[in-house]
Amino acid sequence: FEQFSLEVQIFPYGDKQKLVLSQDISQIEKTDAMRRDFVANVSHELKTPLTVLAGFLETVSELDLNEEERDRYLEMMSVQTGRMKTLVEDLLTLAKLEGNPEPPISQVVNMPNMLARLKLDAEGLSQGKHQISFDQSSDKNILGDDLELYSAFGNLVSNAVRYTPEGGKVCVTWAQIGEEIELCVSDTGPGIAAEHIPRLTERFYRVDRSRSRETGGTGLGMAIVKHVINRHHGELKIESTVGVGSRFCLVFPKQRIAP
Ligand code: ADP
Repeated sequence: FEQFSLEVQIFPYGDKQKLVLSQDISQIEKTDAMRRDFVANVSHELKTPLTVLAGFLETVSELDLNEEERDRYLEMMSVQTGRMKTLVEDLLTLAKLEGNPEPPISQVVNMPNMLARLKLDAEGLSQGKHQISFDQSSDKNILGDDLELYSAFGNLVSNAVRYTPEGGKVCVTWAQIGEEIELCVSDTGPGIAAEHIPRLTERFYRVDRSRSRETGGTGLGMAIVKHVINRHHGELKIESTVGVGSRFCLVFPKQRIAP
């Protein structure tokens, strides 16, 4: 009943009193509809690569292909299984975050090490097609969960690289601003129109569906980022201008700065 507030009213009833319990079921219906939507989305996301995979399998087993053609089909099949694997991994990450209301363990997360890992990942994804810079102006570490934070930071960095066209810039900064500390990822990508920004952290919400698919997006990255930052009592700030670029910041309160 914590989630669905229960209203209690007491009325006179003859020489006794009548207790009326009422509940607003619109919230229950909304949650139910969200659950149905989620299941439909997951099924759809899995069905697409499965259908492609089944088609390729049929081709490989029925047609008399030469070695080169067969290898090409096997490669395409491997891309589809990779897509399904990433989706299932992201779903498991989300399920773990959502099913675990406890705040993450406050371990000291080594930020120079974290930034080095993120830089390697960004360079691997970009394959030399972007100007990537990392600027660490604070030597402070953070208290939190290393794996969760790596997943949140990594999602922002990989989005910046994936959505920014060749030749563009991606810049990651780690800086203390007043009493807070923040990791920001800026890019010179397509930018996001203001009306989409509040919805980016919804599961499977995509502004550019085809670009997301093309680059192996699951539509769950920003939902994971939001959960992780909430669990660390921080804040996600998004600024973006269409045609100019975007800036995503994860801001942590001073209690999260390691002593
Ligand atoms: P996806 O796997 O589709 O990238 P996310 O949850 O990570 O899913 O992001 C949600 C949507 O937000 C993306 O589909 C994309 O349209 C938009 N988006 C996220 N990051 C950026 C960015 N840096 N530049 C432009 N659009 C972005």
